[in-house]
Amino acid sequence: MTVHLVGAGPGDPGLITVRGLELVRTADVLVYDRLVSDELVAEARGDAILVPRDAHEQEEINALLVALARQGYEVVRLKGGDPFVFGRGGEEALALVDAGIEFEVVPGVSSLAAVPAAAGIPVTHRGVSAQVTIVSGHSADGEELDYEALARAGGTLVVFMGLRRLAAIAAGLIAHGRDAHTPVAVVAAATTPREQVVTAPLHAIAEAAAGLQSPALVVVGDVVGLRERLRRPALVA
Ligand code: SAH
Repeated sequence: MTVHLVGAGPGDPGLITVRGLELVRTADVLVYDRLVSDELVAEARGDAILVPRDAHEQEEINALLVALARQGYEVVRLKGGDPFVFGRGGEEALALVDAGIEFEVVPGVSSLAAVPAAAGIPVTHRGVSAQVTIVSGHSADGEELDYEALARAGGTLVVFMGLRRLAAIAAGLIAHGRDAHTPVAVVAAATTPREQVVTAPLHAIAEAAAGLQSPALVVVGDVVGLRERLRRPALVA
């Protein structure tokens, strides 16, 4: 049978694709990530097998997807955002290819643009930024970011998984020439009721965002200034 690698979108259950939702509703087995909303998991058939990914190592998940497909199950592997953007969807797809299992990728709305948008920040804007660089702030093998290249790139920098290392990332960018007054936004739990946004200049952002929790996306660049006019009315607590 087929394994469908489906993007769930950034958080709001309404932001999955029509095709993705259809597959979630018909799957025999749903293997889902921590970032996927409970509402989407609740869309699965009453008799579907539900497997939270959290309890397993990546290798185990790869093996599980192969085993389930071989047993004849229609499997949906539901991932936050888009499966192929920092989602390890490629690793799972390779494991399926190696095992000769048919698979399909159903793209999702990645937090790359959806999370800044939720905060009123377009990642590109004519006359402000025509370039976006995306990086992971957390590397499994502890490798340092190339701050020189990142500072030189200019435009908009979007950092996934960067909250914990935000102080080091900001310091690295400034040390390599990015203006310390560049506006930065940290957007946490975007498109969910727990959404929080903190903005500050690059030199002050780590302290300003200290109270936030992951998932959070860091957006560096002059596009952040557009938020003043494009943000939605603040939520009343
Ligand atoms: N495949 C996902 C990214 C997974 S990596 C995608 O395409 O969006 C997980 C990281 O994504 C988080 O650490 C955070 O940086 C970002 N992220 C995902 N959902 C988010 C949300 N609702 N709000 C803020 N950041 C989010």
